[in-house]
Amino acid sequence: MAVKEYAKEFIAKGGVFRDIADQKETLWINDRYLPFDMVDALCQLVVTDEDIEDAARRLDRFAPYIRKCFPETEEDRGLIESPLAEISAMKAAIEKDSSCVIPGRLFLKMDSHLPIAGSVKARGGIYEVLKHAEDLAIGAGMITENDNYERFADDDFREFFGRYTVQVGSTGNLGLSIGIMSAFLGFKVKVHMSADARQWKKDLLRSKGVEVIEYEDDYSKAVLEGRRDSDRDPSSYFVDDEYSVPLFLGYAVAAARTKKQLEEKGVTVDADHPLIIYVPCGVGGAPGGICYGFKRLFKDSVHVFFCEPVLFPSVLLGMATDMHNAVSVNDFGLCEMSEADGLACASPSGFVTRIDRNLLSGDFTIVDGRLYDYMRMLKETEDILIEPSSCAAFIGPARLHEYEAGKAYLHLNGLTPEKLANCVQICWATGGRLVPEDIWEKYMNTHIEY
Ligand SMILES: *Cc1c(COP(=O)(O)O)cnc(C)c1O
Repeated sequence: MAVKEYAKEFIAKGGVFRDIADQKETLWINDRYLPFDMVDALCQLVVTDEDIEDAARRLDRFAPYIRKCFPETEEDRGLIESPLAEISAMKAAIEKDSSCVIPGRLFLKMDSHLPIAGSVKARGGIYEVLKHAEDLAIGAGMITENDNYERFADDDFREFFGRYTVQVGSTGNLGLSIGIMSAFLGFKVKVHMSADARQWKKDLLRSKGVEVIEYEDDYSKAVLEGRRDSDRDPSSYFVDDEYSVPLFLGYAVAAARTKKQLEEKGVTVDADHPLIIYVPCGVGGAPGGICYGFKRLFKDSVHVFFCEPVLFPSVLLGMATDMHNAVSVNDFGLCEMSEADGLACASPSGFVTRIDRNLLSGDFTIVDGRLYDYMRMLKETEDILIEPSSCAAFIGPARLHEYEAGKAYLHLNGLTPEKLANCVQICWATGGRLVPEDIWEKYMNTHIEY
């Protein structure tokens, strides 16, 4: 595919744009990163602390229902939550592999192991479906906020939801979370899947009675068709990954939950004990919500970086060009498919590139081959399996202190070696739990030269 004129102009500027055109790993530092207090008021015009707390309360209301229907949530009493694990052996392995020193402690936030959907999408996706179900049930006078939500499991509720359809466009994992939860509640479900979606995800959904519609094109097309199909049907609700505020809120709740886990581990986060987070990024919804939630709680003490495949740096481009969702990686000559299903989005969420424009610290890109190497490294050192896409997060701690741009960011933001010695870094593991045995085997044996 030919490089578009506007893209040529950016590439001619060199730097990160040149790296992207060359499919070379890079780090983009956000040129519009600002102190939190300067953007706080503006951000709250769009999403407030109260909005996020409201989402957390809604998840609390549904906890008895989730606990009843999904026994794997018993330990967290119906909250869909994941462990935060320190990964010292992996840290040592990355240091050896990259000949670098990673300051502070390194943790893995294991959303890869979230109940029900086995990916970070269990946060936003399930939250939005539950909210939709609640809106319908309250609207029909079937329940009030003060009732016990175990009622949602009753036959009359399932029959009621059977009159409605939920639809979504997905590269895989969002479809899984929306599909599994909606079908469980009794909704009719249609999942529009892009070409890169893995077969086992389609099979799993079909086994739950979900209608899976397949497209030859990438994710943007699946979303477009899904949105169109849903708009034609008044009883259909479309979960819109590119614009959805409920999805964003579901993800943002992760911050307060993780804060509690850090406190339980006796970890301090403040100006002298910085927190650095790395989140694999596709269209931007999940990492965008997580970033926003953490910035609201920890302000300038937290630094959030996204991690994208070299073939799909869509959020990076959306922000760095300030063209938001109007940008496409294809316009920069990137049109191969990535192994990192789940991150293969050509255009970013315009909502996220705008709301996080002054909050995100930067964005790393990573080649596909390295994802598999990190996946094996984590399995060998920590005996933890997470899917290849998720492993994009490890490029962060490996490289932040190596790139000149990274060093300049640390210096500019007062992250001195003394402070960094006290820091905590979190790699966000975004998927893995539902991957079938034979697919793990294939993943483990995939080696790509780079
Ligand atoms: C969806 C997903 C992401 C990123 O989420 P976006 O909202 O698309 O940015 C990261 N990792 C995995 C495994 C995912 O499924």
